[in-house]
This record gives sequence, C-alpha cells and structure tokens, in this order.
Amino acid sequence: MNERDSEAVAAQLAAKGYQLAASEAMADVILLNTCSVRDMAEQKALRKMENIIAETRRNRPNVLLGFMGCMAQSRGQELIDRLPDVDLVIGTQKFHRTADYLDDIFQGRREKVVDVENEEGSEASIREHLLNGKPRQAVTAFVSIMQGCNQYCTFCIVPYTRGAERSRTIADIVAECQELVSRGVKEITLLGQIVTSYGRRQVPVKDGKSAFVQLLDAVHEIEGLERIRFTSPHPKGYGDDLVEAYGRLPKLVESAHIPVQSGSDRMLKQMHRGYTREKYLGIIKRLRAVQPQMGISTDFIVGFPGETEEDFEQTLSLAREVEFDQAFIFRYSPRRDTPAAAMPEQLPSAVKEERNQRLLALINEIAARHYASLVGQQVQILTEGPSKRPERLQGRTRCNKIVVFEGSERHRGQMLELRITRAGSFTLYGDPAILG
Ligand code: SF4
Repeated sequence: MNERDSEAVAAQLAAKGYQLAASEAMADVILLNTCSVRDMAEQKALRKMENIIAETRRNRPNVLLGFMGCMAQSRGQELIDRLPDVDLVIGTQKFHRTADYLDDIFQGRREKVVDVENEEGSEASIREHLLNGKPRQAVTAFVSIMQGCNQYCTFCIVPYTRGAERSRTIADIVAECQELVSRGVKEITLLGQIVTSYGRRQVPVKDGKSAFVQLLDAVHEIEGLERIRFTSPHPKGYGDDLVEAYGRLPKLVESAHIPVQSGSDRMLKQMHRGYTREKYLGIIKRLRAVQPQMGISTDFIVGFPGETEEDFEQTLSLAREVEFDQAFIFRYSPRRDTPAAAMPEQLPSAVKEERNQRLLALINEIAARHYASLVGQQVQILTEGPSKRPERLQGRTRCNKIVVFEGSERHRGQMLELRITRAGSFTLYGDPAILG
C-alpha cells in the first residue's frame, strides 16, 4: 500500500513538472513515506532521515525534506520538533496535496507544512500511475479501492493512522483499471486495509453479492485484463458470494492472502480479530473445494501479550493443518495508544524470537514440500520482467509463485506455459525449451 501511495505521489509530482531523481544525492526534494505498523519501521525511517539531514544540510542546504504516510500521521508536528531540518509532514489523507505544499515552500509562502487533518473524498485521490515511467512497460499494477479500517484489532495502529473505512465508487475504480489496461497492464491487484469490507455502507447487496464481489464482477468485464488479485482481505469477508466468485470468474486467480495472526481462539479474541480458528479453517476448506489448486498465504503474529506455549502450539498446528504456501511472521511489537500495548503479560523478546524461529522453520518446511511437488508440472505464468539476474525473466503463476526462466524481452507481458524443472526457496525455475 505504501509503494502504491508513493507511486501516486511521484506521478502527481511528475504531472506538475517535477522529474524523478536518479538518486537521493541528485534530488532537490526527498520525501520518506513511512510505516507505523511496527516500531522497527518507525525507528528505521527516523534514522534514515537523520542520515539524510547530516548529508544534505552540509553540502546541499536547500534540499527540501519531508515525511509522509502513517508515521507522519501519528506523530505530526512532533517530527519537526525532533528534527527541525524537516520541512514537510504529510498525513495519510493528504498525499494529493504534496505538490501544492512543495510549491508553497519553494515560493516562500510557507516555511514549513504539517498537515495531518482528515479530508473527505481523499480515498479517491490515489489514482495516478507511473508504470515505471514508460508506457507499456509495467505488466502489473496496484489499484487502491479504499482507505482506512474499522476493525480495531488490539495490536494495530492502522485505524488510527489511516482513519475509518472510506471506499471509492465502482465506476471510478473501473475507469482507473480500464486506463491501466489500455496502457498495457495485464494484471491488477485491488488494494485496501480490508478489501473485503469495500463499499459495505454505500453499495447495497445485490443478488446475494456484497459490494466487493460486485466490484470484482465489474473489473472482470474489462477486455484485455487477464488477471485480478486483491490484498488484504479479512477472514470475515469470505461469504459464499466471494468463495463462489473463485469458481465463476476465470480472471480471479487461485491465490488468497488471508491473515490469520494466531491459531489460538484465546489469542484471536484478545486480538479482537472477529473469527475463530474453526471459522478460519472452514474458509480454507470452502476455498479449496472450489479451487483445489488455491495458493494460500497468511500473516502471523507471535508473542502477543499473554501468549502461552499452548497458544503458540495451536498456531503451529493451524499452520500444519492449512499447509500455507507462504507466511509472513511478525514478532509482536507494542504500538503506542493501542490496547494491546497496555495489556499485562508482555513477553520477553527472547520468547518472541524463539517462537518466530520455530514457526519459520515449519513454514519453510511446508513451503519446500509444496514447491518441490510442482517440479515436472506445467504452469501458466504472466511474465513481468527481468529477474534479479538480468539475463533471465520472471513471472508469477496464478497461485502467486515466482517462476524464473531464460527468455527475452519479447516475452514481457506474455502469458506463457512453462514446465517446472527445479524448485528453490520460494522460487520455481521453468523450462525454456517449450517456449515458442
Ligand atoms: S484488520 Fe486489524 S490488522 Fe488489519 S488494518 Fe484493520 S485493525 Fe489493522
């Protein structure tokens, strides 16, 4: 989501005549888009800005410096009090004002700007795309469909930094997707904090379909679009309409990232997640009944306050039962002003680290088995561009697995059938021999 926000701001600035600098060392404006979801991310952004200040203020005193995003939203003026060299602090509902504020400062109308107010309609302002700066280069794109979250999980700072749920209209989103497809995009990922809650206040249920499924239907109609993904959903959003959509809409790929956080009902309740272990497992079962090849990934938090060894064992057993293709594991990080930060029984970091390692070992073992089982199989990939080694290309399967193969630039943007020859760690390698 932050990448998408940064891209939109860069595109807005480019439209006003700014140019993307090749490096920080050449930039006249340096904006750090920040994340607050873990303390480490905030500390990293602060250290980064301190380093930039040390370098620029000595040699290039006129460079304009700013923070954007979640940390900017939650800390506001405090960031300038702490780092007086910072000129601009832009909250999560003000990204689209960046160019105007830069103008104000460059023209001398204002010395510094801090804007972290709410703004009605701001959810529709993240819409410009750079697509790597060149037409027809990007094959995939993210489209922000909503902002904010009303779930208030007890560990999470997002409802405070991103505000309440606000959704764009279906027509507005479809128009943006159509424009992207006309510029060569083949795959669109719909983005939001809880995408499955999209439009639930504005768009009435129609023929048993929630607003989100109606949006999927509308995007699916776009000619030339090959694949649709979305992230992140919430388990509570998997009604029958969404599960059925996987069987009904061929462009909706067999891939779901469904954050579970814990396998223990006691922890899920403490986290205010709004579902049980059984409910979660039921969703996985229903999805696999509709699409047996479904690639499923998740997020886990280990070391939540009060998590016992038994609770953690429940998480391990859920991971074994679901057999996730991939999982992102986070050690619980107390975030200020969230209920979990004030809970008793905060766990020592050594316990969090040990649980993290055990869960990671299990996830890696399961994934290695999954990936190895694909060797010899034929998969369809959408070629996205060069892999880390430039002489190779890479794409993704419908189940969201990366496949690397030896091809050439002409394969970019193409759907290819490849035979898997080798499996690495979270990467597959395909046989170029069957390429036409
Ligand atoms: S659903 Fe929970 S974890 Fe996700 S953004 Fe909302 S409050 Fe945070």
